[in-house]
Amino acid sequence: MTSIDQLAAAYRALRCHHIAAGLPALLAQAEANELSYLHLAEQLVELERQGRARNRLALNLTKAGFPAIKRLEEFDFRHQTTITKRQINQLLDFRFLDERANLVFIGPPGVGKTHLAIAIALKAVEAGYKALFTTALTLVEALEIAELKGELKRKIASLLKFDLLVIDELGYLPMNRQGAYNLFQLINGLYEFRSVILTTNKDFTNWGEFLREDAVAVPIVDRLIHHSHVFMLGGESYRLKRKIAN
Ligand code: ADP
Ligand code: MG
Repeated sequence: MTSIDQLAAAYRALRCHHIAAGLPALLAQAEANELSYLHLAEQLVELERQGRARNRLALNLTKAGFPAIKRLEEFDFRHQTTITKRQINQLLDFRFLDERANLVFIGPPGVGKTHLAIAIALKAVEAGYKALFTTALTLVEALEIAELKGELKRKIASLLKFDLLVIDELGYLPMNRQGAYNLFQLINGLYEFRSVILTTNKDFTNWGEFLREDAVAVPIVDRLIHHSHVFMLGGESYRLKRKIAN
């Protein structure tokens, strides 16, 4: 008869690494508890399924590239009163992702735009969606490099693999004409196909300012806004409040 080690090796060869690793303990447990064959077979498949789900989540978290882990549970809605917990919680059934709708957080610095964007994207990853966090600056630079190499289309295609793109801090920095054009190409690809969470300090009416060419700004804004939930955040900067409290 095959030894446990040989059996584990056979499972590994079939890429069932979680079963392979858990096999000795599971078999011992099954014998001790006189598990039925059906129950044992079920536990084997469950072991592999859960292990794979854990690995997938860890991988998707790494791929998401969050600059920091920000949780909704840590967000103080008593400080930020221009948005309610209910409004945010309503988003967590992720219908907005299935409908390819966008979320836009507009407001001055320090009011929690990035925190909320990361926290919602993190929940999405935990729910099994693929998300990518990027700042507008990094994104525009990456698109520019791709464009110079003649690989803009390929770069955009790689970004469209994510269910959700977080574009943080659009509007802080002016960008040149080519940058705005590249961004338009991306937004056009995302439109009604993938979702975006956007944070910006600029009201839409001022978007022409940093995109320079209104001819490009208008269609970008138009596509982003068409199916979107817009949240205008106000209030005191949380960073400033902390500083003063200390
Ligand atoms: P913004 O992107 O609007 O400039 P951030 O989301 O980066 O602001 O918030 C600044 C800092 O304050 C972050 O560390 C964030 O976690 C924290 N913060 C902001 N608002 C809140 C809040 N209402 N509750 C808890 N932490 C907050
Ligand atoms: Mg921010």
